Amino acid sequence: MINTDVPRRSRDVPALVARAREGDPRAVARLISLVENGDPCLPELAAALAPHTGQAQIIGLTGSPGVGKSTITNELVRAYRAEHWRVGVLAVDPSSPFTGGAILGDRVRMQDHATDPRVYIRSMSSRGHLGGLAAATPQAVRVLEGAGCEVVLVETVGVGQAEVEVASLADTTLVLLAPGMGDAIQAVKAGILEIADVFVVNKADRDGVEATYHDIQGMIALGERGPSEWRPQVVRSVAVRGEGIEGVIAAIAKHRAWLEERGELQRRRERRAAVEVEEIALGALRAKIGSLREGTALPMLAAEVAQGRLDPYAAAAQLLESLDTVGAEDVASAVDGAVESAVDGA
Ligand code: GDP
Repeated sequence: MINTDVPRRSRDVPALVARAREGDPRAVARLISLVENGDPCLPELAAALAPHTGQAQIIGLTGSPGVGKSTITNELVRAYRAEHWRVGVLAVDPSSPFTGGAILGDRVRMQDHATDPRVYIRSMSSRGHLGGLAAATPQAVRVLEGAGCEVVLVETVGVGQAEVEVASLADTTLVLLAPGMGDAIQAVKAGILEIADVFVVNKADRDGVEATYHDIQGMIALGERGPSEWRPQVVRSVAVRGEGIEGVIAAIAKHRAWLEERGELQRRRERRAAVEVEEIALGALRAKIGSLREGTALPMLAAEVAQGRLDPYAAAAQLLESLDTVGAEDVASAVDGAVESAVDGA
């Protein structure tokens, strides 16, 4: 974790990036910690990593707790390692902003790969990151890409909106279901049908697998999509026995080929970058407005609104007008501020 002996402003980012690129797992871990903690060096880190990114295949996995995400991830790592790929795994928990990596780390059952130097496994929470996990996850992915990973698996816990958001930042998003969990219905409610490129019906050794399989096929059939749109694949697996994994890998590869053929891979990456930039900019804007609370502008406007002399829309418009100088410095100081507010909140 963070080495508190190192003064905050003197992290040697270029040296850390160089070590990560040589495959030093401690440098990779340290860089991800900097991302997770919203360290003030993030703008410098992002700049150092940028030339080394954009090549890895990013695969998102989401699904209810207990459905088999860790088990499948473990098997996917095994399969990609058999291809001699360098593999990164990020297990992301959007619901626990302040717990840090340890709790999730314990639940990541990927001990099979713990001693493989070409596999990086890391759990991550949002902590103080400016813009939360929607912004932090892509940066952590960049660290892993910078470290030479050809494939990065991003596993999220749960099926809420935040999980969906994080998982959908991938090139290919897998949604895991299991028989008898009412998952197919829940998936539709949570908007997961829209983000899934591949459905994996895991625990296919259990009763009810046919019903779940047909439910989800039925829902896909009902979905409106044009002839040129991707039709989500549905595959079955028994992850505990390593069965059906080649089918999952084949579905991912098929989706990848489809993305490349249509120029959709580039479009997805641009969408992902747009979200990332927007989250950072919004974070800076929020921090800037927050800083006005201590000055006079916001309290004065608030007093006017409270006394009925000004309406809140007009006040907000005035506030935004007074912000016409939001710029690079605000982004840098907002990163700093995010750390402080996380420490306050912890
Ligand atoms: P996660 O919470 O989604 O990451 O789920 P885990 O991978 O931790 O799996 C939850 C439990 O289901 C564990 O006890 C696994 O051994 C078990 N499990 C995973 N895959 C299968 C499967 O295909 N069949 C059966 N019967 N159990 C499985």
